[in-house]
Amino acid sequence: MAVDANTPVTALKGVGKTAAESLQEMKIETIHDLIMTFPYRHEDFQLKDLADTPHNERVTVEGRVESEPSVLFLGKNKSRTQVQVLVGRHLVKAIFFNQPYVKAKLHIGEVLTLSGKWDRGRQVITVQSHSIGPKTSGADFEPVYSLKGSIYQKTFRKLMRQALDLAKDDLEDCLPERFLSNYHLPSFQDALEWVHFPPDGEMLKQARRRFVYEELLMFQLKMQSLRKKNREEEGGSFINYDLEKLKNFIQTLPFDLTPAQKRVVNEICKDLREPFRMNRLLQGDVGSGKTVVAAISLYAAVTADMQGALMAPTEILAEQHANTLAQWFEPLGLNIALLTGSVKGKRRQLILDQLAGGEIHILIGTHALIQPDVQFSKLGLVITDEQHRFGVDQRRVLKDKGYNPDVLFMTATPIPRTLAISAFGEMDVSVIDEMPVGRKEIQTFWMKKDMFGKILGRMEKELAAGRQAYVICPLIEESDKLDFQNAVELFQQLSSHFHGKYTVGLMHGRLHSDEKEETMRAFSEGNISVLVSTTVVEVGVNVPNASFMLIYDAERFGLSQLHQLRGRVGRGSEQSYCVLLADPKTEMGKERMASMTETNDGFVLAEKDLQLRGPGDFFGRKQSGVPEFKMADLVHDYRALETARKDAEKLVNSEEFWSSDETKCLREHLEESGVLSSSRLD
Ligand code: ADP
Ligand code: MG
Repeated sequence: MAVDANTPVTALKGVGKTAAESLQEMKIETIHDLIMTFPYRHEDFQLKDLADTPHNERVTVEGRVESEPSVLFLGKNKSRTQVQVLVGRHLVKAIFFNQPYVKAKLHIGEVLTLSGKWDRGRQVITVQSHSIGPKTSGADFEPVYSLKGSIYQKTFRKLMRQALDLAKDDLEDCLPERFLSNYHLPSFQDALEWVHFPPDGEMLKQARRRFVYEELLMFQLKMQSLRKKNREEEGGSFINYDLEKLKNFIQTLPFDLTPAQKRVVNEICKDLREPFRMNRLLQGDVGSGKTVVAAISLYAAVTADMQGALMAPTEILAEQHANTLAQWFEPLGLNIALLTGSVKGKRRQLILDQLAGGEIHILIGTHALIQPDVQFSKLGLVITDEQHRFGVDQRRVLKDKGYNPDVLFMTATPIPRTLAISAFGEMDVSVIDEMPVGRKEIQTFWMKKDMFGKILGRMEKELAAGRQAYVICPLIEESDKLDFQNAVELFQQLSSHFHGKYTVGLMHGRLHSDEKEETMRAFSEGNISVLVSTTVVEVGVNVPNASFMLIYDAERFGLSQLHQLRGRVGRGSEQSYCVLLADPKTEMGKERMASMTETNDGFVLAEKDLQLRGPGDFFGRKQSGVPEFKMADLVHDYRALETARKDAEKLVNSEEFWSSDETKCLREHLEESGVLSSSRLD
C-alpha cells in the first residue's frame, strides 16, 4: 500500500490497541495530523557545565566515579543508591532512587554520563537516566509531547520518526520561496524534522522561527482579508467633509489639541474621505481626551451633510457627552439630541421625526439609539464609547436598516499593541499616547490592611475640603454573594464612621439599573460624599470633584483594571490620591502593587500585565477574542507578529496573491478557515 500524509495513523508499524486509542483521544487520525503534533518541549541532553546550571534545573554531565557506591533500602521496592562523582572540578553526589542494581555497575575510576536534577546547594544530582561511559554522539534533544491516554513518550517518538520518514516529503511548503530567503527560514521539510528531532539547539530555534512566522502569517492573512472584505464589500460612505469648518471649530476649543489628538484626527479624517467603510479602534488612556476627537469626527460628518451618532454604555455617560457636545456645537447652529431609555412619549416622537427628517445633526444616546423605530435620514458615522459593549449584533442592526456608516470604537482600556492587532486584527487602530499638558499626576500609595483607620483619616481630610471619595471592593466572579457582602459590610462600617458628617452611598451589581443610575447621579451631583462600590462603577464616569480613591483588597485585581478604576479620580484641578489596600502573598502580587505606585501610564501597565498574566487572562475570561496559537507566543513573538501583519496586508492587497501559483497554498488555507466565503458579521 502506498503511504502518504493522508493515510490513517493506524497504518504505521507498532500501533497497537492502546496506542490507537490514545491517538484517537488526541484527535490524531492521519499521518499528517501526527506530523503536525509538535512537542511542547525537548529534553536537553547536551553536556553542560555545572557552574552555569541554575538550581533545580535538569542537566546532563560526564563524570568519574570517585567512591564505592552505597545502597540504602527504604522499605518495599524503595532504595537509595549514592556515589561520589567528579564532574569537571566539582565533586558531587549522584543519587539513584529505586535502582539498587546500579551499584554493581559503578566502579571507582569508571566514566559515567548522568542526566538529572541539579541541587546546587547540596551539590547533588538526582539521576533520572544514566549510561556507563562517555556521552555518545546521539541526539542531544529528545522531544516531549503532550499526550493523552496511556501511550508512552517513547512509543510516540518512534511513531513520529516513522511518520516523518514515510510522509515528510509529500507535504507541500506553503510559504513562497521568497519569504524563506528573505527571512532565512528553513524549508517546511527541514523545519518539520528539526522541530521534532533537532540535531542541535540552533536548528530547533530556526524551526520554531519558521512555524511561528507561518502561523502568524496565516492568522493575519485571515484578519487582513476580513478587513479588506469589510471595507470593500460593505460599501461605506464617502464623507467629503469641509476642512475649513473643522479647522475653525478646533480654533474655538478652550485648549490646543495634543500632537497625539491631531494625529488620530488625521487618521480618522483620511478614512472618512475614502469610499471604504471605516472600522477603526481608537485607544486612549483615561483622560487622554477621546471625547473631543469624537466630536471633531462627528462634526466632519455633519459638514458633509450627513448625520452622526454617538453611543455610550450608560445614560449618565450619554448625558455627559450630550452636555459637552451641546456646549461646543450649539453655538455653531448644530442640533444635538439625546435619546436614552428615559426619553419617552411625545419627546421621543419629536426626536424620531426630526431625526428622520434630517434636522438632527448628531444623536447621542445609549442602546436606545439602535431601536427598530429609530431611523436616520443619512447616517454617516457611528462612534461608540467603550468598544466592548457595542457588539456585532448592534452593527448588524444598523446594516439591516440599510446603513453602512463608518464606525469608530473608542476604548480607554490600553491594549498592548500585540494584542490589539491580534484580537482586533481586522480593524485599524489609532492610539492617543499622550496626555494633555498640565495634568496633576494621581499619587498612588500601597498600604497594608492594618492601616485602614489611618487611611480613613486621610480620606476625611479630603471630604472636609469639600471633595468626594470612592471606596472600591473587589468583584469576585465566582462568588457574587460574598462580593455583595463585602460591599455591604464596608458600607455599614463607613456609614457609622462618618455618621452625621458625610453621606455614604452603596453601589453593587445587585441593584436595579434605575437604582444604580440614581446613586450614580446623586454622587455626581455631590449629594453623596463617599461611594462604596464594587467594580460596577462605570468606566468613563466623570466626577471631577472626586479626589480620593481607596481600593480594598487591591491584590485581587489585574493591573489594567486597577488602572481603569484609578482613572475615576484625578479628573479635576485638585491633587488626587489613590490608596491600594493590599497584603499580597505572592511576589507577582507585590510586583503588581509596586508597579501601580510607580507609573500612571496605562500602556506601560498593560504591557506589564500581559507579561505577568499572559495573553489569555489579559481581557478576563469573557471577552478574550485572543486566538490560541500552537507555536507563537504573543508576548515574545511580537516582532514576528508585526512582520506577519505587514506581509499579510501587502499580500491581500496585491493582485498576484489572488491568482499566482506561488500563493495557491496560502489561499487554500484561507478558504478552509472560511474567511473568503462568509464575513464574521453575517
Ligand atoms: P477620555 O479620553 O477619558 O474620554 P475626556 O475626553 O473626557 O477623556 O477628556 C478629559 C478632559 O480633558 C476633559 O475635561 C477634556 O475637556 C480635557 N481635554 C481634552 N483634550 C485636551 C487638551 N488637548 N488639552 C487640555 N485638556 C483637554
Ligand atoms: Mg471618555
